[in-house]
Amino acid sequence: MTDKTTDMAQREKELKELEAEVLQCRKCALAETRNQLVFGEGDPHAEILFIGEGPGYYEDQQGHPFVGKSGQLLDRILEVCGFSRQQHIFIGNIVKCRPPDNRAPTPEERAACLPWLYKQIDLIDPKIIILLGATALNGLIDPKLRITKIRGQWIAWQGRLVMPTYHPAALLRNPGMKKDAWEDFQQVVAKFREIVDPDHHSDFC
Ligand code: SF4
Repeated sequence: MTDKTTDMAQREKELKELEAEVLQCRKCALAETRNQLVFGEGDPHAEILFIGEGPGYYEDQQGHPFVGKSGQLLDRILEVCGFSRQQHIFIGNIVKCRPPDNRAPTPEERAACLPWLYKQIDLIDPKIIILLGATALNGLIDPKLRITKIRGQWIAWQGRLVMPTYHPAALLRNPGMKKDAWEDFQQVVAKFREIVDPDHHSDFC
């Protein structure tokens, strides 16, 4: 095996070990009400990491991220961009257990869960991070930033490029925001071509 293959296999192993550890987590009150913890999933060597808010009803039932209507919209966006969950991206959330009644996670819950996300970022080592919505933006970058003001602007964060954009659930509630989101994803495709794969094919740009 080449050094690169060995390194990739080691990272996959460590991500699996991390998942086993996280599945036991009871560091915050959300452990009391969850049905299933949602670790996140996708390509363990993804160049793009998507981060959402937290599991909703269907994610909590099934243990997978973005499986409801928001997930269907996200899959459509991925398809048009030429990305797939298996090959290019990994999807996680700011908190890994569902907040009751789909409320936003509290600052305490976010703080308890963030160390797990940092470990995932270290292991997956993505070049691009896409933050879906205000909770992801405030949880990872800065609690004071407004998604409506900063979406569509690249942020340099710990050697990676971060693109904040709207959460698919917000796009479903407010279809008028889709135009901005498409512009953001055009930038993501362009950046992916620039720093990962110049021959990347997408249907819309
Ligand atoms: S939300 Fe995060 S910190 Fe809280 S119990 Fe679940 S995995 Fe642990």
